[in-house]
Amino acid sequence: MSMIHPREMALAQDILDIVQREMAYQGAIKLRTVRVVVGEATPMLPERLTFCFELITKEFPSDRIKLIIERIPLAFRCRFCGATFFIPETGFACPKCRSKNVAVFSGNELFIKEIEVE
Ligand SMILES: [Zn+2]
Repeated sequence: MSMIHPREMALAQDILDIVQREMAYQGAIKLRTVRVVVGEATPMLPERLTFCFELITKEFPSDRIKLIIERIPLAFRCRFCGATFFIPETGFACPKCRSKNVAVFSGNELFIKEIEVE
């Protein structure tokens, strides 16, 4: 089963491992919600991650665990004028000053933002 979406399955397992360590640290019994931030520039597909996470937490003795995925759009920042923008119609040039000296500003995020336990 773990071969269905290897990348998302590995991430789901990592998330669960981190969450379980944190729960042990806090002395928490039940996991309610895990909120993760997944940038659009990462190769992770939210629906696959949800599927994999549900698969590996299905047999947990607690109530249903909710995985909330926050998406961060892929955006760029112009190194010349400082403007931030999504992929513009001008290609990868800055829509304000037309400079091609641009860098990824957001979209590579991949982290656990919040864990709700009891
Ligand atoms: Zn610019």
